[in-house]
Amino acid sequence: PAPSGSPAAGGAHPGTAARDARARPWLALTHLRPHRPGILLGTALSLAGSLLTLAQPLVAKQMVDALDRGSPATGALVLLSALVIAGAATAALGQYVLEHTAESVACTTRRRLSEHILRLRLPELDRTEPGELISRVTSDTTVLRQVATRSIASAGSGLLVAVAALVLMALLDPVLLSITLVTIALIGATVAAAVPHIARAARQAQEAVGRMGSLLERTLGALRTVKASGAEGRETAGLHQAAEDARRAGTRAARWQALSATTSTVAVQLSFLVVLGVGGARVATGAITVSTLVAFLLYVFALAPRVGQLVEAVGLLQAGSAAAARIDEVHSMDTEPTGPPQDTAPLPELRRPVGVAFQGVRFAYGPEAPPVHEDMTFTVPPRTTTALVGPSGAGKTTVFSLLERFCQPDRGRILLDGEDIARLPLPRLRALIGYVEQDSPILSGTLRDNLLLSAPDADAAQVRDVLRRTRLDSLAARLPEGLDTPIGHRGSTLSGGERQRVAIARALLRRPGLLLLDEATSQLDAANEAALHETLADISRTTTILVIAHRLSTVTTADQILLLESGRVRAAGTHAQLLATDGLYRRLAAAQHLA
Ligand code: ADP
Ligand code: MG
Repeated sequence: PAPSGSPAAGGAHPGTAARDARARPWLALTHLRPHRPGILLGTALSLAGSLLTLAQPLVAKQMVDALDRGSPATGALVLLSALVIAGAATAALGQYVLEHTAESVACTTRRRLSEHILRLRLPELDRTEPGELISRVTSDTTVLRQVATRSIASAGSGLLVAVAALVLMALLDPVLLSITLVTIALIGATVAAAVPHIARAARQAQEAVGRMGSLLERTLGALRTVKASGAEGRETAGLHQAAEDARRAGTRAARWQALSATTSTVAVQLSFLVVLGVGGARVATGAITVSTLVAFLLYVFALAPRVGQLVEAVGLLQAGSAAAARIDEVHSMDTEPTGPPQDTAPLPELRRPVGVAFQGVRFAYGPEAPPVHEDMTFTVPPRTTTALVGPSGAGKTTVFSLLERFCQPDRGRILLDGEDIARLPLPRLRALIGYVEQDSPILSGTLRDNLLLSAPDADAAQVRDVLRRTRLDSLAARLPEGLDTPIGHRGSTLSGGERQRVAIARALLRRPGLLLLDEATSQLDAANEAALHETLADISRTTTILVIAHRLSTVTTADQILLLESGRVRAAGTHAQLLATDGLYRRLAAAQHLA
């Protein structure tokens, strides 16, 4: 397996997305490939609608000819009306099919992307801004969606109408066509000049909005600290700047849009006048008929918007490809190896207390980072309680990350009941473990949501039992809606100790074979801590427990204490043994008046 945390193993590099999009301007189309039938049908209908529209000037010409001859032209009028209705209906149907398909494009892309994000490997994920990932799921997919609706069909029907109109106009009168071509070239040139500016400004606006999201998420994630630090002003300044950047970029885009729209309109009006003047003269000399001039003018009006549309479609495709590249960048980030399929290896039975062994584990958080574990070796017999102690940064939390397979050892093996965890399917491995993180995060939602997160199948009796064991029953009774009370974003309505007890209850409800507690009692008061120790003593008969604790008083009763230092187990034994044999332990204990 690739060394964990190695970006060379497929991690995203900032900036590759933009390069990628420039190198492959068609990238967006690869994302639309699964939706080809809908896009082809919608485009075909749009093209058919355009063809019906194209036929209209020819029928109008017949109508003018008939009127000229003094005949009523009823047939041509009916045909023209039918063409108008059929053209509009077909175009509308095409539009509907395209929008429908575009919704599927957005939906499948968002689903695949968010699923992928949840499966990303942790060390890499820790280094990625959540706001960045969120904007890729929300706004980049929206840009991609626009390619599906507007870009392909617009380019297709724009091209078709332009070519067909030019051919028909050449047949009607080559002289007038040459005048019109000047107009077309003028429109094409302004739009072509404006599109890159519009695309860049739109991208910058989008980035600014994304930056706002990241900033807000950062500020709201630590609002108390921000307020207490008196930093609202500075945080707001950043938000204002991002909003201002978005406004500037949006205005810039609008300016270019207005310029190209105005140029196009003026060019069309002018060419209308010129064609009318020159055409009128040609009608006077008898070179062309009035009906030809009418038909020609109608084509001028049909053609002009298509030229702009065509160029815009290309710009949209570029923006879509940039979005596709940003989406692909996330997809290229490594996901967790899920291990072998369920049935290849004999599996330890779920929820049975398991023994744990680390054998010569070396681990670093990246190819350049210094190793956290040099040669980690220890054994934890089943149904025992082992405490990990050691200075901060000694790699205690990393032991748990490796056990949960959030990351993989570079060398050495980690065994559960003698079985290498690398050989276990990831869901089985994690189902075995109850894990209480160092900062005991609470998810926004109700107390019940939080408890059932790790054990969705737990019944009411089990929930009651766990609440009692963690002394949360009084809290649940006190809350206005009991277990169904929302406990705020990140549990902000709970005290630190309550949050920790919710996290512990969540882990216990899983009825784990191995319980990992990372400084899980640091915020409990003496009474609650004593109660929890009773619970743990009770549970340790049926579960293997690994605890990390700064406060040595919480670990003195452990069956075994592992003292971690410099990526190794420096000493192992009971509290009494370590006191007798290890100087560092003695110093740590003395500092806490335990010697
Ligand atoms: P402890 O829990 O013993 O205090 P940790 O296992 O959390 O120590 O961390 C050990 C070392 O690894 C620390 O130096 C820390 O800075 C580093 N570290 C922890 N997590 C990461 C991470 N996700 N990416 C890079 N380095 C990390
Ligand atoms: Mg830690």
